[in-house]
Parts: sequence; C-alpha cells; structure tokens
Amino acid sequence: MLQSPLQLYIHIPYCIHKCHYCDFNSHVRTQPDWQAYQQALIAELDFWAQQKQFQHRKLHSIFFGGGTPSLAPANLIAKVLEHAQTLFGCEKNIEISLEANPGTVDMKAFQGFYQAGINRLSMGVQSLDHRELQWLERIHQSDEVYQAFDAARKAGFDNINLDFMYGLPQQTLEQWQQTLDAALQFNPEHLSCYQLTVEPHTKLATRHASSPYKLPDDEASLTFFHSTRERLAQAGYQAYEISNFAKPDKHCRHNDGYWLYHDYIGIGAGASGKWDMKNRGTYRYSNIRTPEKYTAQAMQTGSAINSDEALEQQQAAAEAVWVGLRRKTGINNAWFKQRFEKNITDYFQNDLEPWLNDQKLTWQHEHLQLTESGIPLADAIAESVL
Ligand code: SF4
Repeated sequence: MLQSPLQLYIHIPYCIHKCHYCDFNSHVRTQPDWQAYQQALIAELDFWAQQKQFQHRKLHSIFFGGGTPSLAPANLIAKVLEHAQTLFGCEKNIEISLEANPGTVDMKAFQGFYQAGINRLSMGVQSLDHRELQWLERIHQSDEVYQAFDAARKAGFDNINLDFMYGLPQQTLEQWQQTLDAALQFNPEHLSCYQLTVEPHTKLATRHASSPYKLPDDEASLTFFHSTRERLAQAGYQAYEISNFAKPDKHCRHNDGYWLYHDYIGIGAGASGKWDMKNRGTYRYSNIRTPEKYTAQAMQTGSAINSDEALEQQQAAAEAVWVGLRRKTGINNAWFKQRFEKNITDYFQNDLEPWLNDQKLTWQHEHLQLTESGIPLADAIAESVL
C-alpha cells in the first residue's frame, strides 16, 4: 500500500504588528507566554505520536510557519525539534525550515536557530522599496533585509528563500523589475513571488471597499507574472511551482509536499493537518486559532482540534488535482491511480476535456500538466474539478 512521506508543520502565531493585507492566523501580543506555548506544542506532539496512523513513520520535513516564528526563543525551537526527533525520528537529510522576518532577528538569533537544527530559512521580505514596505505595514526597512540576510549567511544558512509581493497599488512593471533585480543580488537559493490579493476580512479589504486602490487589471497582472518568470529563468531559477522559483535541487521539500498531497501533522494555534484514510478518503482537522485558548486546550488534553472533516475519495481526488496542477511537472497518473484507485480521467474526464482540447492542459509522460498558456488559468482549471 502506498504511504506518503510524513511532514510536520508548527505554527507560531505571534507578530509584532498585524499587516493590513494579512489573513494568516497571526496575533499581536507584547509578551507571549513562550513557556506555555512550548508546553502546548510538546503536548500536541505527544498526542499525535500515539495515533496509530503515525506509528513507525519518520518525518520527511518540518516547517515553522507563522505569524513570525523568528520571534520565538531559539531554545523553544530546539526543544520542540528534539522532542519531534525523539517521538518520530527524522529521515536522513531532513529539511527543517523556519520563517524569519527582517527586523525581528539578529546574528545571535540566527546562530541560535542554526544550532537548534534549522537548516532552511524563509524570509518575509515582500519589497525592498521603502514606500512599498510602509504601505504593506511591514515593520522592517529595506536596509534591515540586507543586515538580516548577511547575518543569516554568517550564521551558516546556505539555503534561504526570500518572499516577495508584486502588483501593489500604483506599482509599475519597472519598479517591480528593479525589486526583482535587487533580490537577485542576494543570490538566494529560492524565491517566492506572489501577487498581492485583497483577502476578505482584512483591514485592506475594508479600506479597499471604502476607497478602492489602483490594482493591476488582468492584463497588467499577466505582464507582471510573465516578466517575473522570464527574469528568474534567465537568472537560473526553475519555476517548479506557479509562484515558487528555485536553483537546482533547492525547491522547498515541505511546500512541495502539500502540492504532492502528502500527509502532514499540524501543531500550534490554527494549524491544520491531514492524512490518507486508505481508500476511504482523507481526514483533515484545524486547531483552535486563538493562542491562549489553543494553549489551554492542548495542555489539558494534548489535542486542540477545533474542526475536522472526512473527505470522500472523490473529493480528496479533486483536491489532489487542485493542488497538484500547481507543480510544473503536474500530477503523476501512476501515483494518482495507486492513491485513489482510478486514473485521473476516470474521475474527471468531462471536467478536464475542454482544457485539454484548448491546450491549457497536456499529458507529458503520464503526467497531467498545465501548458504555458494554461498556467495563468490554474485556479479556473483546478476549480472545474472541485
Ligand atoms: S508579519 Fe506576516 S504573519 Fe505577521 S501580520 Fe504581517 S503578513 Fe501576517
């Protein structure tokens, strides 16, 4: 029976300031109770390690996301990693990532994270332009990005991602290209470039509703998108996913696991997890989102699930297509058949046929993939199977 690699996601929900576009589970607290939060994470790890579906399975990747994980004390990161290693064990050469925001980390902190076992950093840079950073309500200035990157390299990190955002109000293509060129000067191993989206229930959405920002229309968005891909391809970065670019062998194994529909355990406030129920679909859960409520519940019972659901095999198959199409190499039909007992076309022939006929989708060596002209339509194509 096919069994996917097992991943662990650890959510650190605290931030210094809530950026107005942010819809992540992030909370501003001046003095988080790190001790209690650590105990809650440890209690959750103990709980999940006892579940039979995770017995005898080593961890393939670990990711500390947020919020701002770089606010956490290095000894919390070390203790949680040590505990996960003791309970589950780690695959050889495991990837262990931590999100770090410039303005929250110095050399000492990076050294602490490195010694704790983190071997990949993902920095939330978003822009290198002072006015853009202010508009985004980020707490850092562009010179702090340079300082943070330099300190991270000196601390030993040789696998660093930089997150950027384009399509900001009034931003011209030239401005974005300058930012991208400046980003390449860092010579990072990985870049994530996302277009700004106005997410519902954010401060930005409220502001945009009352006084609309000038955001790029569809045509301008496509120009940003294609110019990003071209520039990064020239610089030797492979677009292995729609918004993610990596030097050879430096793709993010953890995020790739989401698109490959791997099983994962999520711990921490608002974290979610999912696993294959072996021909009975997929189970998934989400934790309590408020840090204090999460902490109290996890410490009391070891579990802090707020909601869960079981997806039928058909729904899970649709979800696997939805996420899998984001990858450049698409979905391997042989894997899909093993996982969902039937071919992709047995499930979705009618939904996919128009896109195949229109050459937005293609079959390459038994992989269902987006074509170059299909990539910008990924969401619409994926939604047609849901
Ligand atoms: S730093 Fe990141 S997680 Fe925190 S509020 Fe800003 S966008 Fe959200």
